[in-house]
Amino acid sequence: MNTDMEYTLIRADRKTVGIRIGGGGEIIVRAPRHASRAQIDGIVKKNMGRIEKMRRLALETEDAYAVSSRELCALKRLAAETLLPILDKYSNLTGLVPGRVRIGSAKKRFGSCSSSGSITLSCFLMLYPMAAAEYVAVHELCHLVYMNHSKEFYALVEKHMPDFRAREKLLGREYMKKPSEVPGLEKIELGSHVIR
Ligand SMILES: [Zn+2]
Repeated sequence: MNTDMEYTLIRADRKTVGIRIGGGGEIIVRAPRHASRAQIDGIVKKNMGRIEKMRRLALETEDAYAVSSRELCALKRLAAETLLPILDKYSNLTGLVPGRVRIGSAKKRFGSCSSSGSITLSCFLMLYPMAAAEYVAVHELCHLVYMNHSKEFYALVEKHMPDFRAREKLLGREYMKKPSEVPGLEKIELGSHVIR
């Protein structure tokens, strides 16, 4: 383990030291303005094991989602053809009607629902089993009723999709496909440009 760990220090109006991993595995430390460099170094050293673990995980995830611009294009097109009808289907089944619906390319957030009722689904859902994508659709539709993850929210999800917990598990990394394994994408020539 590297004991002389380099990190980017950002001073801010805060009381605690916060550590997060940025793009390329960069270690970003946010610290109170008055904290000394020695104090901050001490905290970073103490948490080295955890930081290394976070960093490894972040880099692994980054690699898994590194797609070429062509693949991203194709994923978004395929997602529009596949995910929007799924959302439509469950909107009809549940009677929950979103406002604007769009396909985004968020890497860790599979779906989102705004307070104005627009729903965004990530094209990266195409890398997961469709049973999981259906769950994300229902999850976001239920946010039209509850903008939180309360018991009531999950009761509503369960009402519309009794097996949602099994489907949610399918969003685990072990179920993730490579873009080349997504049916319908394999015919597209792969570019070499990697989007990070
Ligand atoms: Zn949610």
